This record gives sequence, structure tokens and C-alpha cells, in this order.
Amino acid sequence: MHWADVLADELLKENKKHVLATGITPSGPIHIGNMREILTTDAVYRSLNNKGGNCELIYVADDFDPLRKVYPYLPKSYEKYVGMPISDIPCPCGKHKSYADHYLISFLNSLKKIGVTPHIYRANEMYKDGMFKEAIQIAMDNTEKIKEIIQKISKRELPKHWIPFNIRCKKCKKMTNAKAFLYEYPTIEYKCDCGYEGEVDIRKGGVGKLPWRIDWPARWKMLGVTFEPFGKDLGTVGGARDTGEHIVKEIYKYPPPNYIVYEFILLKGKGAMHSSKGTALSSEQMLNMTPPEVLRFFLMDNQPGKHLVFDSGLGLLNLVDEYDKQERVYFGKEEQTKGMKDLKKTYELSQPYIIPKKIPFQLPYRHLVTIVQLAENWNEMKKILIRTNQIPKDLTKEDEMNLKQRVEHTRYWLDNFAPDMVKFEVKKKIPKLNLSNEQNKFLLNFIEKISKIDWEAENIHNAIYNASEQEKIPIKTTFKTIYQIILGQEKGPRAGFFLSNLDKEFVLKRFKEAVK
Ligand SMILES: [Zn+2]
Ligand SMILES: [Zn+2]
Repeated sequence: MHWADVLADELLKENKKHVLATGITPSGPIHIGNMREILTTDAVYRSLNNKGGNCELIYVADDFDPLRKVYPYLPKSYEKYVGMPISDIPCPCGKHKSYADHYLISFLNSLKKIGVTPHIYRANEMYKDGMFKEAIQIAMDNTEKIKEIIQKISKRELPKHWIPFNIRCKKCKKMTNAKAFLYEYPTIEYKCDCGYEGEVDIRKGGVGKLPWRIDWPARWKMLGVTFEPFGKDLGTVGGARDTGEHIVKEIYKYPPPNYIVYEFILLKGKGAMHSSKGTALSSEQMLNMTPPEVLRFFLMDNQPGKHLVFDSGLGLLNLVDEYDKQERVYFGKEEQTKGMKDLKKTYELSQPYIIPKKIPFQLPYRHLVTIVQLAENWNEMKKILIRTNQIPKDLTKEDEMNLKQRVEHTRYWLDNFAPDMVKFEVKKKIPKLNLSNEQNKFLLNFIEKISKIDWEAENIHNAIYNASEQEKIPIKTTFKTIYQIILGQEKGPRAGFFLSNLDKEFVLKRFKEAVK
């Protein structure tokens, strides 16, 4: 059984409405690890829905969290905002409503592309609208008990005058510098490092925030959360999940949600991804280079607890191939091979929106990578693809849309992540050459052969081998000669296939020029 079904069945045992939660603090580019959290939750939600469960998928953006420090991707001038809620800090590019929106909006757009449509909550609005009023009062009334729980479970000593509430100073607007000295419902008197002294009324919205270890369990109760996965960093003994369980049970009188711990995704060659260190690949970049169904497949095909490595180099091409193969098996066009588990469910969960009724038209992704580099735009590509019989003349609108979408991903990948070995450019003019006698002899033979053949990959391939054999020239040299003449480099895509995509007259003319 697919892992999403296993988790959904577990939830179904409790016959009630299920709220599946996921969330993030948008304090930087949102990376692919977070994508794993939300797609894991989405998969369980979809399975539960299919089984007739009463459920809701929610996403909480903690945009009321204070900026912790000036991250490497921020200008130095942001020093003055450290400690302020990220929803109240200006956006770095000037185009968004706030710092939080700067990162959040692009992530929410990515979610749409990938077919995840949760109900979105924003912590800054929840706090400002007073939704946390009751939770804050309960926390304040139980200050000593909460302190005890956190100290005992996390083995962390809290300051003498610690309270479960971070006051937002009226004057400097920072949430990290105020020290409380007297609480008498509903007011807390405080003194801030900026020199300001005053009081807050905890019944009023936006005057402060529950610290993370309390905010999380308070939210579980408030939103009725019954399932929420978390990364292994939060799942340690004494970690936020651990203290959260105690706080939600003992203070908020609510059962801790079900969960699954998910593993990190490593970027090949770069190690674990941490947005705070700036070593991360953002989910947006990831989605720009990976077709959405393939990105979903990457996560659906693996248990959430499995370590994954995302390879933005040639590995991406293999991943797309693997997806396409599963698709062929799903539609009965190819035999299932070993290692394909829960294929039907995996394929269905990989679809951003609608599950296709018949197999979408497939063009090998590697071919696409070649064709994209031969043409300026889709219309030119389409002409090549039709002329070479790689796509039918009557390609459906839908299939054409799919292909065009993949072209976009391929272009982005080539521009930003592809290794040099797959990149090339057909030179508009013949490059400067210094051909040897044997290269010349090969060319003359080759030109004669190809001028007589039907312009197809296999015929060209055979012509290369035959000419090379007849002239007793190493095959390596002949390939090198071809690439030099057309691309001005020593390597290139598979020659027969590659040349067949170019116009025959162009190729003949170019080779004739070269022999001169
Ligand atoms: Zn911005
Ligand atoms: Zn202050």
C-alpha cells in the first residue's frame, strides 16, 4: 500500500473531521525541503478525500515571526529590522507588500502550479485579529507550568522572569527586547532595551506573540489540527514537537495531532539545504526546471522518511525519464519492471490536477533538450518535430500545451543548471577549421553518402560509420570533425539524431564549405 494510504487509513480510524496542517516561516527563499512537507501533507489529504473522509488541508504562514538576523541574502541595512515581525518589514525588491510577502507570494504561486490548494492562514492576521486571545490568556495564566514543562523536557534553563509571551514594544516595534515585570490580567508591564517602559493589554490583537514552542500547540487546538508532519530537526527528544505534545495536552487540553517525520532533501554536491545559510535551492527554481508532475513524482515515489538527493544536473533528465516510463506502464504501454511499487497510486498522486484518461504524448526529454537548442521558439521547434516525424501533425491541443510547458522547463534548466556537456549552439557561420587530410577524405565520402539518403537519424548514423570505416579513420575523429564544423566544439549530442533535426540542405552546404 502507498504510504499516503497507510497514513490516511490511520486517520480514518478516528471518525471525525480531519484538519491536515502544514506551514512555514517565510523568512527567506522557501526551499525544496519545505516542498516535501507540503506535498507529503497534500498526498495524505488526497488519499483521505478519496476514501470519503471529511477533511481540510490548511497552510499556516508564520509571517508574524520576528526577523532573527541579517541573512546572507539580505542587504546590511536590514540590521535595523532584526526583531521586528517579518510582515512589518519592507520587502527587499520593493514590489511586495512586506518582507514576508516577498518570499511567500512566489511560494504560493509554486503551490498552485504543483496542484496544492490549501486554505491559507497568515499568522500576522490571526494575531492582529485577536484569534490567539484566549490561547495567550491560558498561556499567561499557566506561566509556571509551561516553564516547568519546557525546562524539564528540553533540559533548557529559562530566565527567571520568563513569560510565555513575546511582547512587541510599542516604541521600537521589536518583539525580542521587552522584559516583562508584572502580569495582572489583562495587562503586562514591561521595559524594553530601547528604553521604553509601558504596558500591553493581551486582549488586544498584535501586541505580541506566543513563543514558537507554545505558538505551535496553541495553533493545533485553535485550528483543530489532527495531522501535521515535521522535519526531523523538530522531532528530536526535547525538541519543539516533544514540548508541544505536553503543552497541548496539559495546558490546552487537546490531543496532539498525528504526524510523520520527513527526511531532508539533499542537493547533489551541496549537502543539506538550509535557507538560513543561503545554500538552498528555492522551490521556485526547482519548479522552474522540473515539470510539476515530475517533481510530485520525485516525492510520491519515496517514503517521507527516506533521504533524497536532488540532482539538478544530468540526474534531472533521468528523473524525467523515470516518470515517463512509469506513465507508460500506468497506461499499459510497457511492462512493469522491478522496483516499481504502488505504481498506480504514485502516478495518480503525481498529477497536479486532473489524472489523464489516456496517455499524454511523450517526446523523450533528452531529445527535447537537443531540439530546444536548435530553435528560437516553439513554432520553429514544431516545424522540426513534424518534419522529423517526432510528433504527429495532428497533435492535440492538450499534448501541445504539455510539450510547450516542458520546453519552458528545459530552457530554464539549460540557462541555469545544465552541465556544459549538454549545451551547444549551431554556429551561424562556419568556424575556423584546420582539417587534416584524413578528415577531408572522410568528409568527401560522407557528403556523397548523405546527399543520396532519406534524411533520417538512422541513415545518417550509418553513413557516418560507413564513411569512417571506408576511409579507415577512427570513429572518434569523425564525430569530432562533425561537431567542429557545425558547433565549433569537439563534443555534441548523438550525431545521427542531431543532424537529422537540422535542415539537410544546410548540413550539406556547411560540410561542402568545410572541405574547401
Ligand atoms: Zn519583493
Ligand atoms: Zn523597544
